[in-house]
Amino acid sequence: MAGCRMKLELSRVALGKGRLGVLKGLGKTGQLSLEVPGCLLHTHLGTVPHLTQDTLSTLSTLPSVTQITLSNIAEHQEVLEEFKDGFRKFAGLHDTVLYCALHDPATPCPTGHTTNKTVSVWGSGGRIELTVAKFMALQKAVKPDWYQSMADGETWQINTSHKRVRKSVDRSLAHLDECLLVHQKSQELEGVEVFGVVEGGDILEERVRSAKETAKRPVSGFCLDGLQTGSMDQALRTQLISAVTKELPEDKPSFPLSVRLLQGVGRPDEVLASVEAGVDLFEGFFPFQVTERGCALIFNFNISSNPELAGRAPPAVLEPGEDQETAGDSQHNGDLNPDDQTQMTSFEINLKDKRYQGDFRPLVEGCGCYCCRNHQRAYLHHLLVTNELLAGVLLMIHNTAHYHAFFSALRDALAEDTLDLLKRRVLGQTERKD
Ligand SMILES: [Zn+2]
Repeated sequence: MAGCRMKLELSRVALGKGRLGVLKGLGKTGQLSLEVPGCLLHTHLGTVPHLTQDTLSTLSTLPSVTQITLSNIAEHQEVLEEFKDGFRKFAGLHDTVLYCALHDPATPCPTGHTTNKTVSVWGSGGRIELTVAKFMALQKAVKPDWYQSMADGETWQINTSHKRVRKSVDRSLAHLDECLLVHQKSQELEGVEVFGVVEGGDILEERVRSAKETAKRPVSGFCLDGLQTGSMDQALRTQLISAVTKELPEDKPSFPLSVRLLQGVGRPDEVLASVEAGVDLFEGFFPFQVTERGCALIFNFNISSNPELAGRAPPAVLEPGEDQETAGDSQHNGDLNPDDQTQMTSFEINLKDKRYQGDFRPLVEGCGCYCCRNHQRAYLHHLLVTNELLAGVLLMIHNTAHYHAFFSALRDALAEDTLDLLKRRVLGQTERKD
């Protein structure tokens, strides 16, 4: 199988400090790689929202894995089947690893529509019910490199009963077994990697059972589902992730990838804590959400001792009186509002605010992105209040660049054993002088 070329090489695994490594041998040619911890490129139907392929290519550190979701794609099944050459070619994507997930993390979907045999996804035309047969027919039409197995992920809400959580674990394992049966007989899916889904809500024993059972199956990666922002506080999320990752294989030869992908978490503070608990990959939807609310990421992740580089980004904790709205309660992880994802966080500023009307600084001093090199906050404010489409384009360029640079800084910090310093910087605490 072509997939056997793939390999996760861990250069550093520190208990409670995360895993650092590289996924090698990816893509059709085996030439692509992805550093972990890292995040995937979030797209709608293969397109990064607001950006053309040309604009996207001006960004330097882009991930080599592109995420698409069945909720966007399911309604185009017939066209894809007629097209025959798979989604990558259909969407004009070039050298990228295509990962097909079930749901779009940036668009929470209604619950209450799963049965023993089906799960539902919502496209622009409404609900589409998927059986394993339909789910696998879609994968054969999409022809991804990796895909998430079908799973019952409706147990993320607090107060979900133990019985319902147990049922979701059972159903997800049954779906995985059925998917694998079809997969192994399918020529079209030869060399394609399956990610098993770990469910279990907020019940530790179900999480552990789900992880143990999923790890027994021939899967190449693990999606940690039902732990998304807004569903629980980070202390509980960390506890559950740590219990799950303990049950997953490190890098057994029979599991060429063995990567752990955490779904629905993108906030920098939650990313840092989840990496420490053993997560390798994240869905890269956070910059898109920030852009959609007219905001720009400005949090500081620079821990370089080089004075010229230090302070490239402004401090996340802003001066009193300035940007007070950004230092609000949203950073407290106790907030269990399920709509939390749409709320502004302390890592961003709201460019629609009047205070930026006459602010002629770039979004982030020293940022090398096209937006920061050419435009000021005042111009972005003007574009936003007049509803110009360019506002979304420029914000998306900066937010994507800033977010991916944060992951790069995170890997550097793991390599140099300076994660605690990075955490203090990102969370806005000042470094102690001693
Ligand atoms: Zn920028």
